[in-house]
Amino acid sequence: MKIVSAHEGVVPISSSMRNAFIDFSAMDCSILALVSDVVIDGQPVVGYGFNSNGRYSAGEILRRRILPRLTEADPEALRAEDGQLSPSKAWDLMMRNEKPGGHGERSVAVGVVDMALHDLVSKIAGVPLYRWLSDQYGDGQPDSSVFVYAAGGYYAPGKGLRELQDEMRGFLDAGYHVVKMKIGGADLADDLSRIEAVLEVLGGDGSRLAVDVNGKFDLATALEYGRAIEPYGLFWYEEVGDPLDYALNATLCEHYRHPIATGENLFSLQDARNLIRHGGMRADRDYIQVDPALSYGLIEYLRIQDMLAQHGWSSRRCIPHGGHQFSLHIAAALKLGGNESYPGEFQPTGGFADNVVVANSRASLGDQPGIGFEAKANFYRVLRDLHR
Ligand SMILES: [Mg+2]
Repeated sequence: MKIVSAHEGVVPISSSMRNAFIDFSAMDCSILALVSDVVIDGQPVVGYGFNSNGRYSAGEILRRRILPRLTEADPEALRAEDGQLSPSKAWDLMMRNEKPGGHGERSVAVGVVDMALHDLVSKIAGVPLYRWLSDQYGDGQPDSSVFVYAAGGYYAPGKGLRELQDEMRGFLDAGYHVVKMKIGGADLADDLSRIEAVLEVLGGDGSRLAVDVNGKFDLATALEYGRAIEPYGLFWYEEVGDPLDYALNATLCEHYRHPIATGENLFSLQDARNLIRHGGMRADRDYIQVDPALSYGLIEYLRIQDMLAQHGWSSRRCIPHGGHQFSLHIAAALKLGGNESYPGEFQPTGGFADNVVVANSRASLGDQPGIGFEAKANFYRVLRDLHR
């Protein structure tokens, strides 16, 4: 089997909403189709990938460095011992002549290709990705459903407390039990009113509400907010300071006793390891949110899982950022704690297959071969146009 052609493109996933750090008016996303020479039902098998959300498209790196290393490689060099395409060997080729450190946009580009390769190999095997991953890397018994929480509660023009409450009620009606909202984009008094408005919808149960700062706070503000929200007993307090400020995070962990979550802007094994070594994260309560699509793909995510296990962390403490189909499969196969979900946001790339059901805050998994983009109609139209 070999890759016949690679087709890369960009789609807008823009929106008028904002978090504490950025607005999404110009947000876009790289998309990719890898066409293979394997034919099933008269059609060549195609693997698709994209780069999650929150980081911009990485077309320049894909076109100039990452994709040529893959498409110009000897097909033999990409083959596993069983003769099938090896995403792991492909990863080594894509990263050839890349210096260590400086992860970021490069990790996004590699993540896009890694996703497409995993879509391709599981389609060729004729099984859903979670099944393929569980057999390759897990215990062969994937979870049959995955915990998901509804992420929203952004700041947006004209959005008051009533609209925020309506949004959260919509999440509960859609089958979610835990919801997330943004904080740090207003002052503390305003944010506390917003939190209390959402808690009203949740019957006063703080353990069903997560809050996300998107890396905005300095240490003093992190501690001030921490003191103010501690009595609510929230589900988690997310990405409170700069993602690479491990000392801030460690100090916060000494003062804030409820769960903290972070990691969506850590893009490598090395950065994730530094968080565990120096960030004060507590394996009995905190959450790691590294998003495989943004951080060099599943091959690197497996290394991160190994590192976490060495440090005594359960895979159940990982709930990836991004709310996309790739991580839903990974969560089921590697027995993670769950996956983010953005009902209705970041279209057409975000969200799960059209037939995925969320009930009691758990998402079902489809039986489509591969990642299942073909079962997400609005996105599949865009992906198909890449190579036709
Ligand atoms: Mg976040």
